[in-house]
Amino acid sequence: MLHVADAIELIRARTARLGCEEVPLAHALGRTLAADVASAEDLPAFDNSAVDGYAVHSIDLAGASPEVPTTLPCEVTISAGQADVAPLPPGRVARIGTGAPLPVGADAVVPVECTAHDETGQVMFVGQPAVGANRRLRGCDLHRDAPVLTQGAVLHAADLMLLAALGRTSATVACRPRVALITTGDEVVPHDQQPGPGQVRDSNLLGLPLVLEQAGADVAFTCHVADSAGELAGVLSTLQGFDVVLTVGGVSMGEADAVRPAIDRLGRVEFWRVAVKPGKPLLFGSLGPAVFFGLPGNPVSALVTIDLFVRPALDAMLGRLGGRRVVTGVWAEAVPSDAKRAEYVRVVAEPDESGSLLARHTGNQSSGRLTTMLGANAYGVIPVGVGAVARGDVAQIEFFEPGVLA
Ligand code: AMP
Ligand code: MG
Repeated sequence: MLHVADAIELIRARTARLGCEEVPLAHALGRTLAADVASAEDLPAFDNSAVDGYAVHSIDLAGASPEVPTTLPCEVTISAGQADVAPLPPGRVARIGTGAPLPVGADAVVPVECTAHDETGQVMFVGQPAVGANRRLRGCDLHRDAPVLTQGAVLHAADLMLLAALGRTSATVACRPRVALITTGDEVVPHDQQPGPGQVRDSNLLGLPLVLEQAGADVAFTCHVADSAGELAGVLSTLQGFDVVLTVGGVSMGEADAVRPAIDRLGRVEFWRVAVKPGKPLLFGSLGPAVFFGLPGNPVSALVTIDLFVRPALDAMLGRLGGRRVVTGVWAEAVPSDAKRAEYVRVVAEPDESGSLLARHTGNQSSGRLTTMLGANAYGVIPVGVGAVARGDVAQIEFFEPGVLA
C-alpha cells in the first residue's frame, strides 16, 4: 500500500496550475491571488494626525511640565478632508482632527485629553512631545512600489481592504477548479427525506461540496447514484469541462462497489488504497482531462481524504502553497492504533497549565463516527510503524487549515 506522502506526491505530479481571471474586490474573498501585487501609491497618501489634538512644533514646548505649563495661542482648526492647509507658524498650534492633513512645520500632535484650554483660545501644554508623536507620515504604512501581497495568498477581508485603500478595484485570482461530486449507495437517501429501514441520509452530498468550496473549488455538479457501475458510468460519461471528478462510496471490496469497474472502463486508475486511517480505500486516477478521486463513503473518511488528498490537488491547481502547521505536543491519553497504517486521529490540541500542547482525542476513532469531527482542531498523526501510543508520548500535531475542517 502506498504511503500518504507518496500518494500526495503522485497527486501533485498529475495536477497543473489553472489560469486566472479578474474579479471585483467585493467578490474576491477566499480567492487565491494569481500574481504578486505591489503598491501603486504611498499609504497613507499624505502626512496626517493619528489623534484628535493639537498640531505643534515640539521645540515650542521645551520645558513644559505640569508645574510650569506652556501656553500657546490656537487660531486654526484643521478637519479631516480639508484640502488647503496652511503651514503652521512657529509659536502657534492648530486644533486638528484624526486623519486631518498635518500642516507643514508641525512635527507632533498632542492629544486633546493631555491639554487644557481657556476662553481666550490659549492652549495649555504640560509636557514636550517627542518629535513624530501621533504623526502618520505619508507612506509610513506602505511605500509606493513596496510588495504588498504574493501570488498564492488566499485573500482575506484585510487584504481586500488594503487593495481598496491602494486604489485597486479588482484582483487577479486563480480560476477555481471545477469539481463534480457524485455520491453512491443503494442505501443512501436525500438528507431531507425520512430514511426507510436500512437506509441512511446523504450527509456527504450536503457537506462535502461545502468543504470543497471552502478549499477553493467551484462545485458545479452534484448527484447521487445507486450501486451500479452502469449507472455510475452513465453519469461519468456525461461530465464535460471538469478539473476534478469525485465519487463517494463504493470503492472498497464490497460486491456492490461500482467505482473501480466504471473507472477501469472510462478512465485510468493511478493508485488504489493508501496506508492511512481513515481513508484506506482511496482510489486516484483520471477521467479524460480531469483528475479522479474515488473517496470512501464513511462521512469521516470522506472528509479526511478530501483534506489529505484532494486539497493538495486543488492547491496545486490554484497555485496555493497550502500545508498544515505541524507542531510537537503530548498525547493526553493512550490511543490504540495499527502500525501498518498512518493514523490521523481527530484531536483537540490545547496547551495545558504548564504551556505544553496536549492532544486529546475526540472519542472512539471509528470512521463511522461523525462525532469524532466535532470540536477537533487538529490531527494527532501516528506514522506508519508506530502503532498504539501511550499517555505522555510525543504527539505529532497537524492543525487543520483555517476555514476547511475547523
Ligand atoms: P462505502 O464506502 O460505500 O462502503 O460506505 C461506507 C459507509 O458509509 C456505509 O456505512 C455507508 O452507508 C456510508 N455512506 C456511504 N455513502 C454515504 C453518504 N453519501 N452519506 C452518508 N453515509 C454514507
Ligand atoms: Mg456504498
